[in-house]
Amino acid sequence: MEPEPRRAIRAPADSDRKCNQCTHYYITHEVAFPHACRALNFKSRALPCREVLAASGEECQYFEAKQRTIRKGTR
Ligand code: SF4
Repeated sequence: MEPEPRRAIRAPADSDRKCNQCTHYYITHEVAFPHACRALNFKSRALPCREVLAASGEECQYFEAKQRTIRKGTR
């Protein structure tokens, strides 16, 4: 009997990108809880979307992409 092939586990990097690109994410500058989410109103040690995934088993449903600003003279 052959062993089952390993299945790919979704990389945490997928979730990381979400908070970093979300308008609700901010850095608290608190050593114990450096990350925070305005939409869900909590601070955390890990990125908020990781906490959401760990607690609910689903990806965050409150993600809202940041507005991109084009500065004068950059293009
Ligand atoms: S709303 Fe979701 S994706 Fe946005 S910062 Fe909060 S946890 Fe992260």
